[in-house]
Amino acid sequence: MAKPQDAFVRFENVQKSYDGKTLVIKDLNLDIFKGEFVSLLGPSGSGKTTALMLLAGFEPPTKGTIHLDGRLLNSVPAYHRNIGLVFQNYALFPHLTVQENIAYPLRVRGAPKTEVIDRSRKMLDMVRLSGFGGRYPNQLSGGQQQRVAVARSLVFDPALVLMDEPLGALDKKLREEMQLEIRHIHEQIGITVVFVTHDQDEALTMSDRVAVFDQGRIQQVDYPAELYERPGNKFVASFVGETNMLSGTFEGQEGGVAKVRLNNGALMA
Ligand code: ADP
Repeated sequence: MAKPQDAFVRFENVQKSYDGKTLVIKDLNLDIFKGEFVSLLGPSGSGKTTALMLLAGFEPPTKGTIHLDGRLLNSVPAYHRNIGLVFQNYALFPHLTVQENIAYPLRVRGAPKTEVIDRSRKMLDMVRLSGFGGRYPNQLSGGQQQRVAVARSLVFDPALVLMDEPLGALDKKLREEMQLEIRHIHEQIGITVVFVTHDQDEALTMSDRVAVFDQGRIQQVDYPAELYERPGNKFVASFVGETNMLSGTFEGQEGGVAKVRLNNGALMA
């Protein structure tokens, strides 16, 4: 049997009830490997955010265990988990500049001043906001604010980053640009990402693997192409199958696998 340390993140027999009666997470078993980009995909109310809150440490599991890099997390407080977070509403501090927002996690950790300046500058460059350090959040567009939030989540070199519908507030075009950008950052620094979305296209185009949630259970966890071509049950087929309407260009095949370039630029094989 695989041990907790084989997976970077391991949910094992996890249940969650907020009211002591209803289980909103019924039996969660999920392994996430180091450097993976894994999406939790499912309709509203299926338990995706709750799973993220359990991993972040904002809520305790009712039953079961959660490990990160071989370490049992259950009784580790949120601020000791070394996890970066990005939410839909950015949650930037309005009275701090962009640079100060990004530097904030390092400041509260008591990092030396030179490191604070150096790291936050690097992060500003990475999210392509080098000239914007002195501005305030309300002087930025939604996409720029979300890039600041991404930079802030990564500045302290976390073990992994959790993103909860981070692009939900953006319009379609910006959303597609940000999907590519987040994916690019993930590849550049090789960080493990757990990404919550209810948008099938988003999950399938961005992720290495996708866990499909319904009613507090994972219905299937698999590579995007597998989910698309071999859904394990009716729910997955109908939920993921809507992506049959995705448009793109057939770019030939390799080893019997079709390669399709989607209109947002992502390659699906
Ligand atoms: P999703 O992210 O898939 O939309 P959630 O994890 O937010 O799903 O919600 C799953 C269920 O748990 C829903 O029925 C929701 O109403 C309930 N829930 C979520 N957060 C709380 C909370 N803090 N207190 C009570 N019930 C909650």
